[in-house]
Amino acid sequence: MEVAGGLVADTPGFSSLDFDHIEKEELRNYFVEMEQAAPLCKFRGCLHLKEPKCAVKAKVDTGEILNSRYDNYVQFLQEITDRKPRYPKND
Ligand SMILES: [Zn+2]
Repeated sequence: MEVAGGLVADTPGFSSLDFDHIEKEELRNYFVEMEQAAPLCKFRGCLHLKEPKCAVKAKVDTGEILNSRYDNYVQFLQEITDRKPRYPKND
């Protein structure tokens, strides 16, 4: 999969297998519009799922962030979360 400029191509159907090597914390690098909104979230480390006062969800509501992008984000986050952990991180 080509990743240009840190943005995943906004195409439906890119395989979740491509995300096997991506950690939850790295997912934000692929969803730049959410990363940009993240500092406005109430909570540091907000994953933009069910947290209250989430700036990302607010932008999805207003259409500033595309629903499809948010759906992709949630889906990938879920798959990464469900994935069997490999090694504990040392940092
Ligand atoms: Zn958030």
